[in-house]
Amino acid sequence: MTLVITGGAGYVGSVCAQHLLDAGHDVVVVDDLSTGHRDAVPSGARLVEGDVAEVADEVLGGGGDTGRVDGVIHCAARSLVGESAVDPAKYWHGNVVTTLALLDALRRHRVPRLVFSSTAATYGEPETSPITEDAPTRPTNTYGATKLAVDHAIGTHAAASGGELGAVSLRYFNVAGAHPAAGDAPALGERHTVETHLIPLVLQVALGQRDEIAVFGDDWPTADGTCVRDYIHVDDLAEAHLLALDLLAGDAPAIAEAGGHLVCNLGNGTGFSVLEVIEACRRVTGHPIPARVAPRRTGDPGVLVASSARARETLGWKPTHTDLDGIVADAWDFARSSRTA
Ligand code: UDP
Repeated sequence: MTLVITGGAGYVGSVCAQHLLDAGHDVVVVDDLSTGHRDAVPSGARLVEGDVAEVADEVLGGGGDTGRVDGVIHCAARSLVGESAVDPAKYWHGNVVTTLALLDALRRHRVPRLVFSSTAATYGEPETSPITEDAPTRPTNTYGATKLAVDHAIGTHAAASGGELGAVSLRYFNVAGAHPAAGDAPALGERHTVETHLIPLVLQVALGQRDEIAVFGDDWPTADGTCVRDYIHVDDLAEAHLLALDLLAGDAPAIAEAGGHLVCNLGNGTGFSVLEVIEACRRVTGHPIPARVAPRRTGDPGVLVASSARARETLGWKPTHTDLDGIVADAWDFARSSRTA
């Protein structure tokens, strides 16, 4: 298939692009490189540099040498919870307005498949754990609210298309790990200008780039008092995007039953605490990694774990990199290689 992947120069998008290429698809990456990296676009994919809203019509209309587009994986997004609180306009425009333009172009050019990289932040503070797709959607931050708005927009477009557009939204929590280097292809991992995520921050301590890691609260109602999160390996996540495309490409009663738009949560199956993550990083790196307890971070729920039951049943998805040390080891290899690159 010829597939367009937005945000294909970013962390999740570049790994999805690599998996699509490995599966034999033609891949066009659309990315404005505002947070992505040109050198993260896998060789073999064609990069169209530009804002999704501005180039969607041309790319989906077969502009350049793209030809007919069989599907879109939409990963391009603003994704920092903290930033979404101080600059909501950036999130409503970057996530919602942009995706509405993409949806218009999808419909206009009758592109039949859309996989949306959504987020479990659409659920907000959970009442039960693990979180299923039936849980109430009450996002507690602007980032989650914009992604939920997009999910609603996709749902109405798919329903109105009379079967012309099928869509899957994938909702997940903490993406982690890296796609290992293979042959000439470099490893693909997490490279943010402003790093806020736990595993890369802890690994920065091991690399000597920061002195210690702050543990945001040790008085949560969890086994060791620190927050529990659902760390999912980026390769497992990319596989889920491919399986969603496969489902949309086949005769998919699950999509029809869902009114054209299926929502699937993805998770590792197990939650890990902040202290467990730090311990895993100590084991993998051999560095003592000093940690200091700091106040809770505003907006952090204690436990966030997604149920993957639906993804397993409908997509046939089964995460294979569920071991925390393995996830950290891939992230560590990438952190070291990008330091020396
Ligand atoms: N965390 C921490 N110290 C840090 C960064 C994160 O203790 O310097 C905790 C945070 O409170 C959360 C978990 O690590 O419980 C994962 O945070 P991250 O920002 O990686 O992802 P989030 O769960 O917020 O999407």
